[in-house]
Amino acid sequence: MSALANNYKRKKISFVKGKGSFLFTSNGKKYLDFVQGIAVNCLGHSNKNLVSAINKQSKKLWHVSNAFVIPEGEKLAKKLVKRTFADAIIFQNSGAEATEAAIKAARRYYYSIGKTHKTRIICIKNSFHGRTIAAIHASGSKKMTNGFGPKVPGFDHFEFGDHIKLKKLINKNTAAIMIETIMGEGGIKVIPNWCLKEIRKLCNKKDILLILDEVQCGIGRSGKFFAFEYSNVKPDIVPIAKGIGGGFPIGAVLMTKKVAKAMIPGTHGSTFGGNPLAMAVGNTVLDQMNNSLLKNVNKMSKYFIYELNVLKAKFPKIIKEVRGIGLLIGLQLNYDQTNFIQKLMENKLLTIRAAENVIRILPPLNVTKREIDMALKIISKVCNEIK
Ligand SMILES: *Cc1c(COP(=O)(O)O)cnc(C)c1O
Repeated sequence: MSALANNYKRKKISFVKGKGSFLFTSNGKKYLDFVQGIAVNCLGHSNKNLVSAINKQSKKLWHVSNAFVIPEGEKLAKKLVKRTFADAIIFQNSGAEATEAAIKAARRYYYSIGKTHKTRIICIKNSFHGRTIAAIHASGSKKMTNGFGPKVPGFDHFEFGDHIKLKKLINKNTAAIMIETIMGEGGIKVIPNWCLKEIRKLCNKKDILLILDEVQCGIGRSGKFFAFEYSNVKPDIVPIAKGIGGGFPIGAVLMTKKVAKAMIPGTHGSTFGGNPLAMAVGNTVLDQMNNSLLKNVNKMSKYFIYELNVLKAKFPKIIKEVRGIGLLIGLQLNYDQTNFIQKLMENKLLTIRAAENVIRILPPLNVTKREIDMALKIISKVCNEIK
């Protein structure tokens, strides 16, 4: 019996080694890994430059307190500011911490300008912002909040696409609208550009901050550095995590100058957040997140999604919809996807579920056409077997 608590439903398989898009078991079985730690290992396993960066930094300095200046963090923050809408960054260790920090920054902004009543955050029902007490209540999912009462107040919810309800929820106490630009766990649901634009306009009109959670869809996953760049919308606050560490736990909240001004000494902090080891890795991830990598994401995405739609046309009873952009891809089945995912795994392709019967497909951003062809062959084989 495992000494680990039973809070995960784990597949009975484990790996000892990873290389690029592949994972290996102890008895040498090779799996095509299109989970990549749930969109975390954006450069694949054992990326040469990341291995070298962590080795190098580990011999110099792992951790110092944020009571001191950390040059590696200064450097990574500068790079993020240079590339994005943001003027200032706070580093964390995970996605949930990053979304919590985003909520805190929004509230603190209104507090700092004397609008202390503005505290409420509007979110999409059954979205995903992490597993801390506040984040589960932000997500508004019964599955996550059941048994973890009392309810954390301050969050209002509307169903995905229900613009009328969204407008109704807004009142003088609303501080922010917090949404995932692409809902990951929720089933790879892309918020359309026109919708993001309308929400931005609404925020401007009603003096509300816009928080776009890009923990899963950010850092190149969508084919742009941030998924919201497709809409040209500028958010006020953006939590990130998953991809930015390439497999090392890093989270961050990105803010405009206006918001960051309120985050004065003592308002927020983290013991581990932004330590030299993490920052050395983050810097190396960002250095590799160049135009040619993003070009690969777009090229591979176009090919993959096209071919998945070909399979959809061939197996309409099985595949209902192909969703997503970039390499954040969802294959929605007409029925529960558990068995299909199991069969893919038996054929050495790893994928992971999302809500709405969706199979999430998350290759590393440097995936090759050959690897995508391998995956397509396996998906097609499984379709043929169960049709
Ligand atoms: C994964 C995820 C989180 C939470 O990240 P953790 O590192 O698991 O805390 C938050 N928001 C989104 C959109 C995510 O996909």
